[in-house]
Amino acid sequence: MTPQFASTVPDALDTARATLAKLRSVPALADRYADVMALDSLEDLIHVPVMVKDDLNAALDHLKPKAHRGATWTFQSGGSTGSPKLGYAPTGLYMNEVYEQWKPLGPDDLFVNGWGAGKLWGAHYLMGCYADLAGCTGIGLGAVNRNEYDVWLEFFAERKVTSFGGTPSVLRPIIGRAREIGIKLPELRSVLYLGEEWNPGLDEDLPLVAPNAKRWGLFGSTETWVAGTNTPECAADTWHLLPSQLVHVGENQMLDFTSLKPHGLNPVLRYQTGDAGEWVTCTCRESGPALRVLGRRDGEVKFRGLLLNADTLTAEVCAHSGVSQAQLVLTEYASRGSTLEVLIVPSRDAVAGLAERVRDHILGSAFGGPSTAFHRDPEALVVRLVEELISNERTGKTSKLVQRREP
Ligand SMILES: [Zn+2]
Repeated sequence: MTPQFASTVPDALDTARATLAKLRSVPALADRYADVMALDSLEDLIHVPVMVKDDLNAALDHLKPKAHRGATWTFQSGGSTGSPKLGYAPTGLYMNEVYEQWKPLGPDDLFVNGWGAGKLWGAHYLMGCYADLAGCTGIGLGAVNRNEYDVWLEFFAERKVTSFGGTPSVLRPIIGRAREIGIKLPELRSVLYLGEEWNPGLDEDLPLVAPNAKRWGLFGSTETWVAGTNTPECAADTWHLLPSQLVHVGENQMLDFTSLKPHGLNPVLRYQTGDAGEWVTCTCRESGPALRVLGRRDGEVKFRGLLLNADTLTAEVCAHSGVSQAQLVLTEYASRGSTLEVLIVPSRDAVAGLAERVRDHILGSAFGGPSTAFHRDPEALVVRLVEELISNERTGKTSKLVQRREP
């Protein structure tokens, strides 16, 4: 029996009712919630419509939440372009609950916080709150450039850092560089990740650089805040939810989240993040269902009138030997329609002619629809080897699809 809407959190029903009342009070959303009856039990949430980012933004614009004590912090709720949409969190950033459940750090740890700081991105600060609870020693690294890697790696080795956290696409090149220049970090016990799925490339480099390091992950979004945790014994895509997170697997495996935090600021009630998932039994054998996240289901874009799925296409490209990472760059030109660039970071064992082979493969039958568009206009497809993919400067995240518009 898959769980629907069950929770052991005290006052869970009252919290859900209060959130519903808040959403009903938002003029722009009144129609959506007009037909929803009172919640007699959490199971009644099935009758509440799911909400997406625009709904939540409308609610936050109207409600402008304030923490019931201490400061109220604002963070950017997703999206790397356009004006910031703000999400809210109180002082402490809800990390008490995370600390109760997840213990990668202790008082003896020397922890490097490698998430970018500032610019409305929350990860650096929530890990600061976590470090406070763990009582460890912290190093606020933030974002560093490629030409700074060597000096920082030497510093980490000299200081004997025991823990390093960051976005996987930021950690990957740093650990890769350590391998290249022969830096060893034998004291490193934990690698913390948040913001993106785990990068399997780290599994190649870590055993050579830091043989004692194990990965520990947090999963969530700015809107839901931290939703789940995992340990080295869990699969990298599988999460144990925090008690205050009520997750429902809906149609097409789309996940929706309901916050049961008693003093939560974002009115998250059946909020769809765009992630799909399923309930599984975790390999760590912790009792109860765990949530396996299957990735986003909103990666489909129109390309020359055809639907192109960024996840499927990058997965196919990454299946080629010699491909370490891949990314699609879709550029729309007002004058000549759109072009697709496939960027590839080659692996160490890549042989010559990789770009040509991948291009031939895409032009072949494997991709069905899009390949016919390329046959009409072969110039519209470019495959290029690069040293690194394009990432968001603010968060260090690297998405599978980058969209651009040119005059
Ligand atoms: Zn587990």
